[in-house]
Amino acid sequence: MDDPAPDELFYELFTGLPRQGPGSCECTRQALSLIPPLDAGERILDIGAGTGAQTFDLARSTPATILAIDARQSFIEELNATAARLDVAGRVRGIVGDMTRLDFPAGHFDVLWSEGAIYNIGFDAGLESWRPLLRQRGHAALSEMCLFVAEPPAECREFLLGEYPAVRDEDSNRKAITRAGYTLIGEFRLPVSAWWRNYYGPLEGKLAAYRSRHEGSTVASAIAAAVEREIEMFRRYSDCYGYVFFVMRKGE
Ligand code: SAH
Repeated sequence: MDDPAPDELFYELFTGLPRQGPGSCECTRQALSLIPPLDAGERILDIGAGTGAQTFDLARSTPATILAIDARQSFIEELNATAARLDVAGRVRGIVGDMTRLDFPAGHFDVLWSEGAIYNIGFDAGLESWRPLLRQRGHAALSEMCLFVAEPPAECREFLLGEYPAVRDEDSNRKAITRAGYTLIGEFRLPVSAWWRNYYGPLEGKLAAYRSRHEGSTVASAIAAAVEREIEMFRRYSDCYGYVFFVMRKGE
């Protein structure tokens, strides 16, 4: 039998995880606590929502209407099935879409949310191109990977350059936020547990079965090796980089 396409082999490993990136319910709530309480008429756009871990945390914590967007159809199908199961489909909806081409009326959303996903467009490009969708004085909560040290060890630096060459320190990202016309109202680093509990832990747990399922596939074995290395780098260097949640308001 032919191997599935590399993309499918890659996503197979990320299917069935609680999340598709670092984060936790506690972090989502902490970020949400930094903005004024939302009412039922307000609209949140959750960008790069994956299967919706944070979407449903938001739905549990606010009465707002939430539109969740992700490029991957299977993630959106799972998100919409969860919305139906949790009986929130009336105000939580997932659609397949591209974060680089979001087409909504100006000022349509009260809140933009994006966890572990803005790197796909780039932090500056996301800040700039998503801004028109947000009403004046609306809020955005975005998590972005940041460097915590000026000079990471060579092995760590090399890994990050290969993985995310645009990675910057927190101060550069603060300046980018201001430059793009927002006011930063709060920020915090995601704890290491937010990487392990819902993401790297379950992902690491899938590797052995994945390898034996795809024995002989060089593509699958390269994917497994890359994921294993990524996890190992975090195990060694989590004091050098990590995710930071930036919460901001559009305008002054
Ligand atoms: N927010 C989720 C998923 C983070 S993983 C969580 O924290 O669990 C990043 C997500 O971005 C993936 O689900 C991926 O499918 C999505 N993505 C990647 N490129 C995209 C694009 N151009 N447009 C929309 N979504 C994209």
